[in-house]
Order: sequence, then C-alpha cells, then structure tokens
Amino acid sequence: MTDQEKIRQAVRLFLEGIGEDPEREGLKDTPDRIARMCREIFGGMDEDAGMHLSRTFTVDNSEMVVEKDITFYSMCEHHALPFYGKAHIAYIPDGKVVGLSKLARTVEVYARRLQIQEQLTGQIADALMKYMHPKGAIVMLEAEHMCMTMRGIKKPGSRTVTLARRGVFETDPVLEERFFRMLERE
Ligand code: ZN
Repeated sequence: MTDQEKIRQAVRLFLEGIGEDPEREGLKDTPDRIARMCREIFGGMDEDAGMHLSRTFTVDNSEMVVEKDITFYSMCEHHALPFYGKAHIAYIPDGKVVGLSKLARTVEVYARRLQIQEQLTGQIADALMKYMHPKGAIVMLEAEHMCMTMRGIKKPGSRTVTLARRGVFETDPVLEERFFRMLERE
C-alpha cells in the first residue's frame, strides 16, 4: 500500500469513527484531499536544512544578522492540530552568511512535520550551527496552539514563547540583550 493510500484509508475510518458517512457527497473526496494536503504540510520530512544553509557567501564583518517575523505553520504532535506564529532568528557570522530567504526556508523544513514547539526551536538553532558554523545563533518562536485555544483550557490568543541559544549567545548576555532590543524595533 502506498503512503497516500494509507492516509486515504485512515481518513475514511476516522470519518466513520466520528459518526460520519464517508460516502456522502461533501465527504467523498475528503480522504483524497487530505492525503494530498499531507504532502505539503508534512513535506519537511523529506527535506534537509543543509540544502538551504550550505550555500554561503563570504563576508568580512561579524555583526549580528537578525531576521524577524518569519511566519510559520506547524502541527502539534500530541493532538495533530496546528500551531502557528512568528519565528525570530539571529546569528553572529564567522566569515559566512546565507541569503535571508534561506532562514525562512530552514524554518519551513522543520515546521512542516509533526512537532513540539520547544523541539522545533532547538532544531532550527542546531541547523544554523551545523551548516553555517556561526559564532552563535539564537532562535525565538511565538506561537498560538489550536490544541490550547479551540479545546482543553481554551485560552484564545495566548502565545507560547520558546528560546534556543547556541554558541556565544549562551555565554554572552549582552548579545542576547541586543537580540531582544532588535526585536522591539519596528
Ligand atoms: Zn497539542
């Protein structure tokens, strides 16, 4: 059985499980639609951040590079519901930088799979360290979790904030402070 067929069968069973009729008009194509959608929203499973981060440019300076407000969408692995928000990334180059779009691509590689936010944050930071070898990297994610807002404790608008520091950001609080100040600027 192909992966796509597995998803189609599972969705049919799921629809029966919640008391639906998978054959009714509005639902007939739903298993196939979901199977195709999964390719996109879980497409990060087949990708490697190295594809994006290995293409570096040489630079002389080693000033902090900040890319903020990168919108991302991911899926919580405990409830298979979306969590989504903004990623903010900074690194201190050690002679090498990447095109700015590559940071957003890297976020997508790890966001497009079943995730927990803490792990997603760490994986982005680790990928920067592994492929670009900067002096340090810091990643902050702010996200709303549908499993907290549409069910369970129902706190609409509440955001979960996670932080991962690597290299000089772990040892130098001044750099960390500078990162937070850059985030406050419009
Ligand atoms: Zn959840």
